[in-house]
Amino acid sequence: MKRSTLEDDPTLFVHAYIDGELDAFNALIAEQRVASEPALFAEYERVQALRRLILERLPREEAPLSIRSRLQAALAPPQAGGQRSWRALAASIVVTAFVASGSTWLAVMPTPAHTVEGALVDGSARPPLEFYIHSEIYRVRPDVHAVMHTHPQWSTFLTMVGTPYRVVYAQGALLGDIPLVDSPLSVNTRAMGERVAAALGATPAVLLKSHGAVVTGSDLVECFALAAYLEENAHRQYMAMQIGDPYVFSDAERQVFRERLWTPSLFQKTWDHYRSKI
Ligand SMILES: [Zn+2]
Repeated sequence: MKRSTLEDDPTLFVHAYIDGELDAFNALIAEQRVASEPALFAEYERVQALRRLILERLPREEAPLSIRSRLQAALAPPQAGGQRSWRALAASIVVTAFVASGSTWLAVMPTPAHTVEGALVDGSARPPLEFYIHSEIYRVRPDVHAVMHTHPQWSTFLTMVGTPYRVVYAQGALLGDIPLVDSPLSVNTRAMGERVAAALGATPAVLLKSHGAVVTGSDLVECFALAAYLEENAHRQYMAMQIGDPYVFSDAERQVFRERLWTPSLFQKTWDHYRSKI
């Protein structure tokens, strides 16, 4: 599938800016271009007016039935003796993320050749720009069934000043030392996606400098829990640094917590805890 780039489709650039998908560097460029180019300013005003109208007059759009059915089927417990297809799971998880964001674009569609390619299978929404984070990790990590890309506050603060993530809290031990992609740019090309996947290596998460985090898991619940732990640990690390030098867990302590806390039931508890707040 041909995907437009920011260079050949400035309108997409404006839409991504409005949707909050751009990293700080590109958001600044977008802001300047919208201010200085009448055509882009007109598009910006048009989309903003449309968004206001939709918010005022329309109920929140439901995901198409076909996608919801696929999602439910993929997330249903496996039949006795059966196994879930990781690709079906991966696809469903991407759908989950987009359904949650009000979009219906499916970024991952398994093919008989066992490749992972982007394709619009239902709905008409614009694909997320950073699709390559997901596709390139799935390509090289068959153990990964869920990928989340977030723009969290506390862990990103650490990357802004070059302070490495340190394990300062028990659940944070599940992430271990987190590698860093030393670039604040959006992951909107295959090359950047490959760079993220390479930095991730065999670890569960990677931080993107002054941009965000990418967390993986063997299923959606585990992935979500790890993403929550990462940010909670970073928050505590940041706060403790205001009053001193936080204690960093030793390798032996980290190992103990990984053995005790890496359990599906605790991941589910974390999921339920955050879900109850919605
Ligand atoms: Zn991003």
